Amino acid sequence: MPAKIISGKDIASEIRRELKVEVSELHKNQIFPKLVVVLVGNHPASESYVKGKIRAAEEIGMESVLIRLEDTISEEELLTKVEELNNDKSVHGILVQLPLPKQIAEQRIIEAIASDKDVDGFHPESVGRMVTGLETFLSCTPQGIMELLKRSDVPLQGKHAVVVGRSNIVGKPVALLLLQADATVTICHSKTADLASITKQADVLIAAVGRAEMITKEHVKNGAVVIDVGVNRTENGLVGDVKFDEVSEVASAITPVPGGVGPMTITMLMANTIESAKRHAR
Ligand code: NDP
Repeated sequence: MPAKIISGKDIASEIRRELKVEVSELHKNQIFPKLVVVLVGNHPASESYVKGKIRAAEEIGMESVLIRLEDTISEEELLTKVEELNNDKSVHGILVQLPLPKQIAEQRIIEAIASDKDVDGFHPESVGRMVTGLETFLSCTPQGIMELLKRSDVPLQGKHAVVVGRSNIVGKPVALLLLQADATVTICHSKTADLASITKQADVLIAAVGRAEMITKEHVKNGAVVIDVGVNRTENGLVGDVKFDEVSEVASAITPVPGGVGPMTITMLMANTIESAKRHAR
C-alpha cells in the first residue's frame, strides 16, 4: 500500500486558521502580537524565506515588520539595532535572518537577542531550557516536525526514532524533543558507519542532511514514518533528502518536499510570536 502523505501544507493551514482566531481574540484584549524580521543584504534564498514569514503573519492577521539593512552594516550597528528592538515594548518576536555577511559574527547577534523575544529559539538560553524541558521558545523546524507527528497521530512512546543529521538547528533539537516524547532515539551523522543498518531500525526516520535524495528504500523499514527535512535545489527543481517515489512504496507515511516540513517551520514562528505576546502580557 502506498504511504500516507503527511501534508505539512494542510496541517500548517489548519494551525494558521487556529492562530488567526487566537490573534483576533488577543486584539480584543488589547494585545497586539508583533514580529520583527531583520534582513541584512539581499541573499536570494533569505529574501524568499523572509517573504514567506511576512506573508504568514499577514495571513493570520498579525503585525509584522521587515527591517532591511545594507550588507555593509557593521556588527556594532546591527547589535545596536537588536538592542533597540529588545527595548521596544511593542515588539514580541525578533528574528534576524541568517546567514549574515562575513564581517558579522552570527553567534554574537543570536546571543544579543533578548531571550524572551527569541522566537527562533536559537539563543543558548532557549536551547538550554529546551534541553532541561523548561518553558522556552522551541526552535521552529524541530517544533514543526513534532507538531506534524502529533497531528498525524504518529505514536512515539517506546518507538525507535532515528535522526540523520546533528546540526544545532535541526538534528540535535529534534532528537531531544523525540526523547522528551518517550521515543528511543539514535542520532546519525556523516561519520556513522553503515548508515542503512541503523536507519532500517527506525519506526520514525527524520532525514535532516541536505543531500538530495540520499535516503533510499534500502534505508527504510517497512511501515516506517519518514519525515524529510531536506531542501535541495537541483536541476529537477526542489527535492528532499529522501527519494520520495521509492521510499513511499515502503513507508507507512511520508512528508513531501516541498509542502512538508517547510510550511510548518514558518507556522511555528507565528505560534512562538503569539506565545511571546501572551507571556509579555502576563
Ligand atoms: P547541516 O549542513 O548543518 O547539517 C547536516 C547534517 O547532516 C550534519 O550533521 C552532517 O554530519 C550530516 N550528514 C552529511 N552528510 C551525511 C551523510 N552522508 N550521512 C549521514 N549524515 C550526513 O544542515 P541543516 O541541519 O541546517 O539542514 C539539513 C537540511 O534541512 C538542509 O537541506 C536544509 O536546507 C534543510 N532545512 C530545512 C528547513 C525547513 O524548514 N524545511 C529548515 C532548516 C533546514 P556531520 O555533523 O558529521 O557533518
